[in-house]
Amino acid sequence: MRIVSGIQPTGNLHLGNYLGAIRNWVRMQDDLEPGSECLFFLADLHAISMPHSPAELRRATLEMVAALVACGIDPNRSVLFNQAQVPAHAELQWLLNGTARMGWLNRMTQFKDKSGKNREGASVALFTYPVLQAADVLLYQATHVPVGEDQKQHLELARDIAQKFNNDFCSEDAPVFTLPEAFIPPAAARIMSLRDGTKKMSKSDPSEMSRIELADDADTIMKKIKKAKTDPGSLPSEMAGLEGRPEALNLVSIYAVLADEKPEAVLARFAGQGFGVFKPALGEVLVETLSPISQRFRELVEDREALDAILAKGALRAREIGIPTLDATYNALGLVRARERG
Ligand code: ATP
Ligand code: MG
Repeated sequence: MRIVSGIQPTGNLHLGNYLGAIRNWVRMQDDLEPGSECLFFLADLHAISMPHSPAELRRATLEMVAALVACGIDPNRSVLFNQAQVPAHAELQWLLNGTARMGWLNRMTQFKDKSGKNREGASVALFTYPVLQAADVLLYQATHVPVGEDQKQHLELARDIAQKFNNDFCSEDAPVFTLPEAFIPPAAARIMSLRDGTKKMSKSDPSEMSRIELADDADTIMKKIKKAKTDPGSLPSEMAGLEGRPEALNLVSIYAVLADEKPEAVLARFAGQGFGVFKPALGEVLVETLSPISQRFRELVEDREALDAILAKGALRAREIGIPTLDATYNALGLVRARERG
């Protein structure tokens, strides 16, 4: 199995990002069978398809590496890198642009959603984004690609591109590309805002009190949980008792996810107790889980040298894995190159 997965670099990472996204990667890495391999990359080349601030992108990329490593991605076991340091992604995208069809890309719903009413003003990169995504996985002969519902269409496209390329340019017994399988990761937790249980926790919420950030220390976490919005009721013994109480449901769910229990089990323990009891208990579980992560994160995010070294090592390994496929692609297309590449 070779699993390849990308994530857009974002800064100000919070509990929702950890439980909803990063933790799944860590589990994927930890559950791998011997002989299998995970490649995780920061999709910084994808980030330029939308208006962006270069300084922000640089900061977010480095923060994301620090966060991933702090959360348990091990650069010695997984290949962790950013696209910008592996030129083969952009090269392969260009080569695959010859195979991808306008009609296929015109059907992509993400482009329609993201360009909205301003199709004429959208970047060309936003339109060809799915071809870069195809290159991202085909370059490494990925066998499995974890995708959410929203990315299924793009993986289908990657398979179509691979299939057409193999048909058009390869003999049947020597296809260049592996057709990657989608796999849907187990339903990830969806964490809601601490200020409003009907809105998801997000980094763009103007209130810092609405989210636990990966960089928060123990005191800050405790303070945020104590101030979290709740209702005057006490905790029910059954899940049905949380209906119409989104804030209470959110806090119970967070506890359950962190303690790796069913929410029913959490309720069984705290039934009849008020939030004066439940909140400190939740705060403690949070601190216990997040303290080692946030400490490591704060150290690492300041250590540019260490971050550069992690990315350089990942990029080197990614290039090693990707180059034979890139070479085979050039070759299949009849593009003449010297045997040795500098
Ligand atoms: P923004 O407000 O800018 O959309 P965000 O906080 O939603 O930011 P993203 O960068 O959009 O964060 O998401 C990064 C990853 O974290 C995605 O995989 C997303 O599904 C996941 N994620 C974000 N917020 C939550 C949340 N509240 N609960 C669970 N997963 C989340
Ligand atoms: Mg978001």
